[in-house]
Amino acid sequence: MLDKYNRTLNYLRISVTDRCNLRCTYCMPEGGVPMLSHSDILSFEEIFAVTQEAVNMGIDKVRITGGEPLVRKGILALIKMLANIKGIKDLSMTTNGIFLEEFAEDLKNSGLHRINISLDTLDPEKFKAITRGGDINKVKAGIIAAKKAGLSPIKINCVINNSKEDDDAKQVKQFCIDNNLDVRFIHQMNLKTGHFAIVEGGDGGDCERCNRLRLTADGKIKPCLFNNMEFDIRKMGIKEALQIAVNQKPECGSFNGINHFNNIGG
Ligand code: SAM
Ligand code: SF4
Repeated sequence: MLDKYNRTLNYLRISVTDRCNLRCTYCMPEGGVPMLSHSDILSFEEIFAVTQEAVNMGIDKVRITGGEPLVRKGILALIKMLANIKGIKDLSMTTNGIFLEEFAEDLKNSGLHRINISLDTLDPEKFKAITRGGDINKVKAGIIAAKKAGLSPIKINCVINNSKEDDDAKQVKQFCIDNNLDVRFIHQMNLKTGHFAIVEGGDGGDCERCNRLRLTADGKIKPCLFNNMEFDIRKMGIKEALQIAVNQKPECGSFNGINHFNNIGG
Protein backbone atom coordinates (compact mmCIF):
# COMPACT_ATOMS: atom_id res chain seq x y z
CA MET A 1 0.00 0.00 0.00
CA LEU A 2 1.10 3.55 -0.76
CA ASP A 3 0.84 6.51 1.60
CA LYS A 4 0.27 10.06 0.43
CA TYR A 5 4.02 10.66 0.08
CA ASN A 6 4.27 7.70 -2.29
CA ARG A 7 6.04 5.48 0.20
CA THR A 8 5.23 1.77 0.01
CA LEU A 9 4.28 0.49 3.45
CA ASN A 10 4.99 -3.22 3.73
CA TYR A 11 6.38 -3.61 7.26
CA LEU A 12 4.38 -4.08 10.48
CA ARG A 13 6.09 -4.11 13.87
CA ILE A 14 3.98 -5.65 16.60
CA SER A 15 4.61 -5.04 20.28
CA VAL A 16 3.15 -8.08 22.04
CA THR A 17 3.75 -6.86 25.60
CA ASP A 18 4.84 -3.74 27.46
CA ARG A 19 6.57 -5.90 30.08
CA CYS A 20 10.24 -6.70 30.25
CA ASN A 21 12.62 -8.73 32.37
CA LEU A 22 15.27 -5.98 31.99
CA ARG A 23 15.29 -2.24 32.64
CA CYS A 24 17.69 -0.78 30.07
CA THR A 25 18.66 2.74 31.07
CA TYR A 26 17.69 4.29 27.71
CA CYS A 27 14.37 2.47 27.47
CA MET A 28 12.73 2.33 30.89
CA PRO A 29 12.97 4.18 34.19
CA GLU A 30 14.56 2.13 36.99
CA GLY A 31 11.26 1.57 38.78
CA GLY A 32 9.60 0.59 35.49
CA VAL A 33 6.63 2.40 33.95
CA PRO A 34 2.96 1.88 34.86
CA MET A 35 2.02 -1.43 33.29
CA LEU A 36 -0.99 -1.93 31.06
CA SER A 37 -3.76 -3.95 32.65
CA HIS A 38 -4.42 -7.45 31.37
CA SER A 39 -7.64 -6.40 29.63
CA ASP A 40 -5.84 -3.62 27.75
CA ILE A 41 -3.34 -6.04 26.20
CA LEU A 42 -4.42 -7.43 22.84
CA SER A 43 -5.33 -11.11 22.75
CA PHE A 44 -3.61 -13.38 20.22
CA GLU A 45 -6.86 -13.46 18.23
CA GLU A 46 -6.83 -9.67 18.00
CA ILE A 47 -3.16 -9.56 16.98
CA PHE A 48 -3.86 -12.21 14.36
CA ALA A 49 -6.84 -10.27 13.00
CA VAL A 50 -4.86 -7.02 12.71
CA THR A 51 -1.97 -8.81 11.02
CA GLN A 52 -4.26 -10.61 8.58
CA GLU A 53 -5.94 -7.32 7.63
CA ALA A 54 -2.57 -5.58 7.29
CA VAL A 55 -1.36 -8.39 5.01
CA ASN A 56 -4.53 -8.02 2.93
CA MET A 57 -3.57 -4.36 2.52
CA GLY A 58 0.02 -5.10 1.42
CA ILE A 59 2.13 -5.85 4.49
CA ASP A 60 4.56 -8.72 3.82
CA LYS A 61 7.13 -8.19 6.57
CA VAL A 62 6.25 -8.64 10.26
CA ARG A 63 8.42 -8.21 13.35
CA ILE A 64 7.43 -9.26 16.86
CA THR A 65 8.82 -7.02 19.56
CA GLY A 66 7.91 -5.55 22.96
CA GLY A 67 8.76 -4.99 25.82
CA GLU A 68 10.38 -8.37 25.79
CA PRO A 69 8.40 -10.67 23.49
CA LEU A 70 9.70 -13.83 25.16
CA VAL A 71 7.99 -12.89 28.45
CA ARG A 72 4.55 -12.90 26.78
CA LYS A 73 2.84 -16.08 27.92
CA GLY A 74 2.15 -18.47 25.05
CA ILE A 75 4.31 -16.56 22.55
CA LEU A 76 5.02 -19.74 20.56
CA ALA A 77 1.30 -20.18 19.88
CA LEU A 78 1.15 -16.63 18.51
CA ILE A 79 4.15 -17.23 16.25
CA LYS A 80 2.43 -20.35 14.89
CA MET A 81 -0.76 -18.38 14.18
CA LEU A 82 1.12 -15.61 12.37
CA ALA A 83 3.34 -18.04 10.46
CA ASN A 84 0.19 -19.48 8.91
CA ILE A 85 -0.84 -16.18 7.33
CA LYS A 86 -0.20 -16.46 3.61
CA GLY A 87 1.59 -13.43 2.26
CA ILE A 88 4.09 -12.89 5.07
CA LYS A 89 7.49 -13.27 3.45
CA ASP A 90 9.53 -12.28 6.48
CA LEU A 91 8.57 -13.09 10.08
CA SER A 92 11.12 -11.94 12.66
CA MET A 93 11.52 -11.04 16.32
CA THR A 94 13.59 -8.59 18.34
CA THR A 95 14.62 -9.89 21.76
CA ASN A 96 17.06 -9.06 24.52
CA GLY A 97 18.18 -12.70 24.25
CA ILE A 98 18.06 -13.56 27.96
CA PHE A 99 15.50 -16.36 27.46
CA LEU A 100 16.57 -17.26 23.95
CA GLU A 101 18.55 -20.36 24.82
CA GLU A 102 15.37 -22.09 25.96
CA PHE A 103 13.16 -20.69 23.17
CA ALA A 104 15.29 -20.71 20.01
CA GLU A 105 14.48 -24.16 18.69
CA ASP A 106 10.75 -23.86 19.47
CA LEU A 107 10.64 -20.44 17.82
CA LYS A 108 12.11 -21.90 14.65
CA ASN A 109 9.74 -24.87 14.76
CA SER A 110 6.80 -22.50 15.27
CA GLY A 111 7.63 -20.72 12.01
CA LEU A 112 9.80 -17.74 12.98
CA HIS A 113 12.27 -16.98 10.18
CA ARG A 114 14.94 -14.90 11.84
CA ILE A 115 15.87 -12.93 14.93
CA ASN A 116 17.47 -9.68 16.09
CA ILE A 117 19.24 -9.71 19.44
CA SER A 118 20.16 -6.59 21.39
CA LEU A 119 23.75 -6.31 22.62
CA ASP A 120 25.45 -2.97 23.34
CA THR A 121 28.72 -4.10 24.94
CA LEU A 122 30.78 -7.22 25.51
CA ASP A 123 31.82 -6.15 29.00
CA PRO A 124 29.75 -8.18 31.51
CA GLU A 125 29.77 -5.40 34.12
CA LYS A 126 28.80 -2.69 31.63
CA PHE A 127 26.09 -4.97 30.26
CA LYS A 128 24.77 -5.44 33.76
CA ALA A 129 24.78 -1.68 34.32
CA ILE A 130 23.08 -0.77 31.01
CA THR A 131 20.37 -3.42 31.42
CA ARG A 132 20.15 -2.91 35.21
CA GLY A 133 20.93 -6.49 36.12
CA GLY A 134 21.19 -8.58 32.92
CA ASP A 135 23.62 -11.49 32.54
CA ILE A 136 25.54 -11.26 29.26
CA ASN A 137 26.34 -14.98 29.35
CA LYS A 138 22.66 -15.76 28.89
CA VAL A 139 22.59 -13.58 25.76
CA LYS A 140 25.68 -15.31 24.39
CA ALA A 141 24.10 -18.71 25.05
CA GLY A 142 20.96 -17.43 23.30
CA ILE A 143 22.98 -16.41 20.23
CA ILE A 144 24.54 -19.88 20.03
CA ALA A 145 21.11 -21.52 20.39
CA ALA A 146 19.62 -19.28 17.69
CA LYS A 147 22.42 -20.24 15.29
CA LYS A 148 21.95 -23.91 16.06
CA ALA A 149 18.22 -23.61 15.48
CA GLY A 150 18.77 -22.03 12.06
CA LEU A 151 17.14 -18.66 12.83
CA SER A 152 19.08 -16.95 10.10
CA PRO A 153 20.32 -14.33 9.49
CA ILE A 154 20.94 -13.28 13.10
CA LYS A 155 21.30 -9.54 13.52
CA ILE A 156 22.74 -7.83 16.56
CA ASN A 157 21.16 -4.48 17.53
CA CYS A 158 23.77 -2.32 19.20
CA VAL A 159 22.65 0.99 20.73
CA ILE A 160 25.46 3.54 20.67
CA ASN A 161 25.77 6.86 22.44
CA ASN A 162 28.24 8.61 20.22
CA SER A 163 29.82 6.73 17.38
CA LYS A 164 30.35 3.23 16.11
CA GLU A 165 34.05 3.88 16.65
CA ASP A 166 33.52 3.81 20.43
CA ASP A 167 35.31 0.88 22.10
CA ASP A 168 32.13 -1.00 23.01
CA ALA A 169 30.74 -0.70 19.50
CA LYS A 170 34.04 -1.77 17.92
CA GLN A 171 34.18 -4.83 20.18
CA VAL A 172 30.58 -5.77 19.37
CA LYS A 173 31.40 -5.39 15.67
CA GLN A 174 34.43 -7.68 15.98
CA PHE A 175 32.35 -10.22 17.94
CA CYS A 176 29.84 -10.20 15.07
CA ILE A 177 32.55 -10.67 12.45
CA ASP A 178 34.05 -13.56 14.44
CA ASN A 179 30.67 -15.23 14.90
CA ASN A 180 29.21 -14.58 11.47
CA LEU A 181 26.46 -12.24 12.69
CA ASP A 182 25.13 -9.03 11.11
CA VAL A 183 25.27 -5.87 13.18
CA ARG A 184 23.14 -2.70 13.16
CA PHE A 185 24.17 0.37 15.10
CA ILE A 186 21.27 2.36 16.53
CA HIS A 187 21.97 5.82 17.90
CA GLN A 188 20.36 6.25 21.27
CA MET A 189 17.10 8.10 20.65
CA ASN A 190 14.79 10.19 22.78
CA LEU A 191 11.14 9.96 21.78
CA LYS A 192 10.16 13.05 23.75
CA THR A 193 12.71 15.46 22.35
CA GLY A 194 12.42 14.06 18.85
CA HIS A 195 16.11 13.19 18.87
CA PHE A 196 16.10 10.38 16.33
CA ALA A 197 18.67 9.04 13.95
CA ILE A 198 19.23 6.76 10.99
CA VAL A 199 20.02 3.17 11.95
CA GLU A 200 23.41 2.25 10.50
CA GLY A 201 23.26 -1.14 8.84
CA GLY A 202 19.46 -1.11 9.04
CA ASP A 203 16.61 0.75 7.44
CA GLY A 204 15.14 2.67 10.38
CA GLY A 205 15.07 6.40 11.00
CA ASP A 206 15.07 7.42 7.34
CA CYS A 207 11.71 9.19 6.95
CA GLU A 208 11.82 9.41 3.16
CA ARG A 209 12.15 5.66 2.86
CA CYS A 210 10.07 4.65 5.90
CA ASN A 211 7.97 1.58 5.14
CA ARG A 212 6.59 0.93 8.65
CA LEU A 213 3.44 0.78 10.66
CA ARG A 214 3.39 -0.20 14.34
CA LEU A 215 0.86 -1.98 16.51
CA THR A 216 1.20 -1.27 20.23
CA ALA A 217 0.56 -3.90 22.90
CA ASP A 218 -2.78 -2.22 23.70
CA GLY A 219 -4.05 -2.07 20.15
CA LYS A 220 -3.06 1.28 18.71
CA ILE A 221 -1.80 1.58 15.16
CA LYS A 222 1.03 4.10 15.05
CA PRO A 223 2.13 5.43 11.67
CA CYS A 224 5.32 6.99 13.06
CA LEU A 225 7.56 6.29 16.07
CA PHE A 226 8.31 10.01 16.47
CA ASN A 227 4.75 11.27 16.54
CA ASN A 228 1.89 11.13 19.07
CA MET A 229 -0.58 9.95 16.46
CA GLU A 230 -2.23 6.58 17.16
CA PHE A 231 -5.44 4.88 16.07
CA ASP A 232 -7.24 2.45 18.35
CA ILE A 233 -8.30 -0.77 16.62
CA ARG A 234 -10.84 -1.56 19.35
CA LYS A 235 -12.56 1.81 19.10
CA MET A 236 -12.30 2.39 15.36
CA GLY A 237 -12.24 -1.11 13.93
CA ILE A 238 -9.16 -2.76 12.46
CA LYS A 239 -9.54 -1.81 8.82
CA GLU A 240 -10.44 1.79 9.61
CA ALA A 241 -7.55 2.23 12.06
CA LEU A 242 -5.07 0.81 9.55
CA GLN A 243 -6.44 2.90 6.69
CA ILE A 244 -6.37 6.18 8.57
CA ALA A 245 -2.86 5.44 9.89
CA VAL A 246 -1.68 4.95 6.31
CA ASN A 247 -3.44 8.11 5.13
CA GLN A 248 -2.08 10.21 7.99
CA LYS A 249 1.47 8.90 8.15
CA PRO A 250 3.51 12.09 8.54
CA GLU A 251 6.13 13.03 6.01
CA CYS A 252 8.73 13.12 8.76
CA GLY A 253 8.94 12.33 12.48
CA SER A 254 9.01 15.09 15.08
CA PHE A 255 8.49 14.00 18.67
CA ASN A 256 6.40 11.55 20.65
CA GLY A 257 5.36 12.68 24.11
CA ILE A 258 3.11 9.76 24.97
CA ASN A 259 4.97 6.50 24.33
CA HIS A 260 7.96 4.73 25.81
CA PHE A 261 10.10 2.33 23.77
CA ASN A 262 8.82 -0.58 25.85
CA ASN A 263 5.22 -0.30 24.69
CA ILE A 264 5.97 0.62 21.12
CA GLY A 265 8.89 -1.71 20.49
CA GLY A 266 11.57 0.62 19.10
N1 SAM B 1 13.21 -6.19 24.53
C1 SAM B 1 13.63 -6.40 23.18
C2 SAM B 1 15.06 -5.94 22.96
O1 SAM B 1 15.58 -5.22 23.81
O2 SAM B 1 15.63 -6.33 21.95
C3 SAM B 1 12.71 -5.79 22.15
C4 SAM B 1 12.15 -4.43 22.44
S1 SAM B 1 13.33 -3.12 22.45
C5 SAM B 1 12.33 -1.72 22.83
C6 SAM B 1 13.67 -2.97 20.70
C7 SAM B 1 14.96 -2.27 20.35
O3 SAM B 1 14.84 -0.92 20.72
C8 SAM B 1 16.18 -2.83 21.08
O4 SAM B 1 17.18 -3.17 20.14
C9 SAM B 1 16.62 -1.68 21.94
O5 SAM B 1 18.02 -1.67 22.10
C10 SAM B 1 16.09 -0.48 21.18
N2 SAM B 1 15.93 0.70 22.01
C11 SAM B 1 15.32 0.82 23.21
N3 SAM B 1 15.38 2.09 23.67
C12 SAM B 1 16.06 2.80 22.74
C13 SAM B 1 16.47 4.16 22.62
N4 SAM B 1 16.21 5.07 23.57
N5 SAM B 1 17.14 4.54 21.50
C14 SAM B 1 17.41 3.63 20.53
N6 SAM B 1 17.05 2.34 20.57
C15 SAM B 1 16.40 1.93 21.67
FE1 SF4 C 1 13.53 -4.34 27.89
FE2 SF4 C 1 14.29 -4.24 25.37
FE3 SF4 C 1 13.61 -1.99 26.69
FE4 SF4 C 1 15.83 -3.24 27.36
S1 SF4 C 1 15.40 -2.28 25.37
S2 SF4 C 1 14.27 -2.47 28.78
S3 SF4 C 1 15.33 -5.32 27.02
S4 SF4 C 1 12.27 -3.65 26.17
